[in-house]
Amino acid sequence: MLRKILKQIKLTFSNYPKRHFYYLTVGILFIVFLSLFSNQELDSTVSKEDLLTEISIDKLLPKDENFIERNFTQVKQSEIKRNDSLFSILKRLGVEEENIVSLVNSNNSNLLAQIKIGKKLEVEINELNEVVSLNYIKDFKSGVRAKKQEDDYKIEEYELQTEKFKVFKEITITNSLYIDGLKRGLPDSVIMDLVYIFGWDIDFVHDIRPGDSYSLIYEEVFVNGEKKLNGDILIAEFINRQTEYVAIRYKLKNGISEYFSPEGRNVKKAFLRSPVKFSYISSKYNLNRRHPILHQIRAHTGVDYVASKGTPVRATGDGTVVYADKKGGYGNLIEIKHTEDYSTRYAHLDRFHPKTKIGKKIKQSDTIGFVGKTGTATGDHLHYEFRVNGKHANPLTVRLPNARPINASDKKSYDLHAKKILSDLKNYQHLSFNI
Ligand SMILES: [Zn+2]
Repeated sequence: MLRKILKQIKLTFSNYPKRHFYYLTVGILFIVFLSLFSNQELDSTVSKEDLLTEISIDKLLPKDENFIERNFTQVKQSEIKRNDSLFSILKRLGVEEENIVSLVNSNNSNLLAQIKIGKKLEVEINELNEVVSLNYIKDFKSGVRAKKQEDDYKIEEYELQTEKFKVFKEITITNSLYIDGLKRGLPDSVIMDLVYIFGWDIDFVHDIRPGDSYSLIYEEVFVNGEKKLNGDILIAEFINRQTEYVAIRYKLKNGISEYFSPEGRNVKKAFLRSPVKFSYISSKYNLNRRHPILHQIRAHTGVDYVASKGTPVRATGDGTVVYADKKGGYGNLIEIKHTEDYSTRYAHLDRFHPKTKIGKKIKQSDTIGFVGKTGTATGDHLHYEFRVNGKHANPLTVRLPNARPINASDKKSYDLHAKKILSDLKNYQHLSFNI
C-alpha cells in the first residue's frame, strides 16, 4: 500500500512541469536548516527575511549550548570565612546540592578540600544553578580550577607564569625619607621594607637629615603583562650623615632569605634603633612638622617619639621586664633588662600590653605597651631611654653584639653574589648620575 503511494508520488513529480521549482524549494529549506544549526552566515543568494518566515527561529536557538553559556551564567565571588567548607560556600552562592555532590565526587576534588580562610573562590554558575567553572585563588599566580564536563568536573592545580623586572631608584632626601620616596614613585611597601632592613642601624625618626640619600634595586612581579606585586629589595644603600650602610638580600641554603652587609654581617642586631615602628609616624602630619619639645623629665635623658595615643610600643631587644608600673613624671613606665649592663625604658604609656608583667621574658619587636601622655607629658609621645649601667646612653655609640654572620657554607657563594649585585648598583648609580 505504502509502496504504491510512493510510486504514485514519484510518477506524479517526474511528470510535473514545474519540478525545477520543487527542487529549488527543497534546496532552500535544506540550507536554512544547515545554517541555523551551524550558526554560520547565510549564503548571500537567499535573503534572511525569507528564511525567517519559513522556520521559527525562537524554537531553535535555546538548544545551542554556547548561547546559554554566554548569556545566562553569572560569576560570583566569595571570601572564605572561618568554618567554611566548599559545600557551605557553594550552598551560600545558590548552587544546587546535587551539583555540589557531583563536584565533590569528581577526581582530584581533594585539591579543593584544604581551602584557606581569607582566600577567594570564584564560581561561574549557569541558569540551572550548576557550577560551570570554579577557581580557588591561592594567590595572584596559583590556585585550583574546576571545569564542568559531561558528568563530572575536571579539577586541577594551576600556576601562572610570572615575570620579574628589576627597578632601580636613587633618592636624595630633601623633605623626608617617605615623602621623597613616594614622589619618586617608590611604592609604600618598598619604603617600609627599606625602613625594616636598616631599622637596626638607623632611627628614621631622629637620624635622618636633608641630603641623606638612598638607592636600591627591587623587583616588580608581573603576570600576563600586569603588575601584581612589588617584590623584594635585592640591594639597598643608605647614606645617613656621611655613613654608608649597604644591605644585600641572600637566600641561604636553608631556604630562608636574609639581609647581609657586603662583608656578610647580618643586618639584624641585638637592638632596634627605634621603639616605635616608622609606619606609625610616617603620616604626612608628622613628617611635615617639626617635633615639638615634649620631654618633661628634668635633665632630659632620652629620646622622644611623637605618635598618636594607642600607637604600639615595641621592645628594642630581647630581655626581661623588671618594671611595669607608675613612676612619678615618667607616668606608666616599662623597664626591660637585656644584659647585666643594658636596659631600656619606655615612659608616658597610656597602658601596658596585658602580657607585660614583671619577670616576663620579652622578644625583640614584641609590643609591650601603647603610647600615651601619662606623667608629666604635654602631648602623646613615647619617651625612650637606652641605659648602660643605669645611665642614658646613645645605642649607636655603644658596642653591641651583632646577630650571627653568614654561615661558612654559604659564605663563598654569597661573596660572589654580593660582588655582582654591588657592581650592578654602582653601574645604575653611575648611569643615573650621567643622565
Ligand atoms: Zn622625653
